[in-house]
Amino acid sequence: MPYARSETEPNEVYLDFNATTPVDERVVQAMLPFFTADFGNPASTQHSFGRRAKAAVDDARSQVAALIQAPPSSIIFTAGATESSNLLLKGICAKFQDQRRRIVMSTTEHKSVLEVGNWLAAHGFELSLVRCDSRGVLDLEALEDTLSLGDVLVVSIIAANNETGTLNPITLISEIVHDAGALFHTDATQLAGRLPFDAVATGVDAASFSAHKMYGPKGIGALFLGRGLKQNVLPLLHGGGQENGLRSGTSNVPGVVGFGEAATLALKNMPEQRAASQVLRDALHAALSAKVGPLSLNGHEYQRLPNTLNIRIHGAEADAVLANMSNIAAATGSACTSEVPSPSHVLTAMGLNDVEASQSIRFSLGRMTTGDDIETAVAATLQAVQRVRELSRADAI
Ligand code: PMP
Repeated sequence: MPYARSETEPNEVYLDFNATTPVDERVVQAMLPFFTADFGNPASTQHSFGRRAKAAVDDARSQVAALIQAPPSSIIFTAGATESSNLLLKGICAKFQDQRRRIVMSTTEHKSVLEVGNWLAAHGFELSLVRCDSRGVLDLEALEDTLSLGDVLVVSIIAANNETGTLNPITLISEIVHDAGALFHTDATQLAGRLPFDAVATGVDAASFSAHKMYGPKGIGALFLGRGLKQNVLPLLHGGGQENGLRSGTSNVPGVVGFGEAATLALKNMPEQRAASQVLRDALHAALSAKVGPLSLNGHEYQRLPNTLNIRIHGAEADAVLANMSNIAAATGSACTSEVPSPSHVLTAMGLNDVEASQSIRFSLGRMTTGDDIETAVAATLQAVQRVRELSRADAI
């Protein structure tokens, strides 16, 4: 697919596809008419403008549903995974607060889930966090122990971690959670569009995801709600009753259409994309190990997203490494929400200490990553790490 590389920075390499992806040109083309000619409000079905918009939203709902092998009626469009997870967790807690009040999450959730847990904990619910192993996989025995408390309302476990790519055994977790009579939500934001995800066969009750992780636009996402759950989630937004009463507000028609197209393309390209990413990702890992080492992998060696490589480069502070390779867009896990960066909660949950976590870099590959990009990234990383190691040795003298 065409990839508009920066003209001012021809050597720039983007390896941060877990943060966001560019919108595919075909997605842009699909969206364009819905800004201008087909601008109708899908709720205005009295006239053809509204009916055309409604038909487009219906089609997109089917496209997004097909990506996760779910019925179209199970898809609620939202502004993204953050809203989806907020809607599900707060909406379930509001509905069932008189019955059960415990919510369960893993220590490696994205902030869009963890912070909902913290908010609910400050508003009368009990939050239990379940640990993971050193590769970031949920500890199933610890989950069972927590469920044996008997008062768990809902469990939310990330399907594929955004920092390490580690996959959790979602089908197994579904069974364990249901055996305890609780509901199961998964944050599938990084999984959807990258690996097959059958929302019905996995048995999840609900799943959150976003278009911009799969070459769709930002600000549009979805919540999958399994059978019977639609009536049991109270909405966050009240108003015109769109999205089955669960998400009032005029639909973002171009966004929805773009999401639908992105989902179709992701599904079509998945096998090829998965294999290509994995080959390049493993080549990057091998080259960095050979040239830049010593380093260690953060995450599961196999049970992992095919595009994600999170490594700790021993003796080199990741922020300093990135600052010394300005043409490579990669990520550190540190959250810079305050003046002082704090180490990644995901990496520390896996047992890394603060220094080890601060030496960790995430490279995440995408649809347009090439072998040349990998070579450029390896050369830049090598140079940057050598410089950072030299500087830290000089500092130590
Ligand atoms: N969950 C995960 C795992 C993510 O990676 C992200 C995006 N970084 C989100 C949720 C939130 O998605 P959005 O910002 O589109 O709401």
